[in-house]
Amino acid sequence: MKIVSACFAGIHCRYDQRHNALAEIRRLVREGKAIPVCPEQAGGLPTPRNPAEIVGGDGEDVLDGKARVIDNQGNDVTEQFLAGARKTLAVAQAVGAKQAILKERSPSCGSCMIYDGTFSGGKKPGVGVTAALLRRHGIEVVSEETMEDRSAQEPGKDDGPAKG
Ligand code: SF4
Repeated sequence: MKIVSACFAGIHCRYDQRHNALAEIRRLVREGKAIPVCPEQAGGLPTPRNPAEIVGGDGEDVLDGKARVIDNQGNDVTEQFLAGARKTLAVAQAVGAKQAILKERSPSCGSCMIYDGTFSGGKKPGVGVTAALLRRHGIEVVSEETMEDRSAQEPGKDDGPAKG
C-alpha cells in the first residue's frame, strides 16, 4: 500500500483549488493500492487557501522547531502543517504503507525541492514537512519526478505551481 498526494488523484485540494492528476496514480487509487491524503487539508486548512512556503529552512527544520511555515499574507501556519503531517503519518502507519508518492516542490509534500520562502517562484533543495516526517518514520518518499512510471502523466492535466 502507498500513500499519495491527494491532488495526484484528481482531488481539487491545492491551495488554488486545482489538482495535479496523474493517470498512474489515479489507477493505483482505483485498484485499492494507494490512499490519497492531502496533508494541508488534514491539518485543518481550507481550500482554497493562501499559498505558503517554509521560511528559514525546510521541513526537517520545521520538525525541529528551527523554521516556520508562513503564508503569503504573513500568517504562521506551522501548526496546521505539523498537524497535517502527523495525520498523514497516522494514515500511513494504519495501512502499513512503505512508500509515499508526493508532489514535488510543495511545502508539505516536496521530497527534493521546495519553494525558497520568498514567494518569488524561486526554489531550493529541501523537503516538505510531511515528507520529512514520513521519512523519519521509515517510509520511502518519492515524487512524480522520481516515481518509476513517468509515462503516466495525463495530457492536459490541471497543473501549475505547487504551493500546497
Ligand atoms: Fe495537498 Fe499540496 Fe500535498 Fe497536493 S501537494 S496533497 S494539495 S498538500
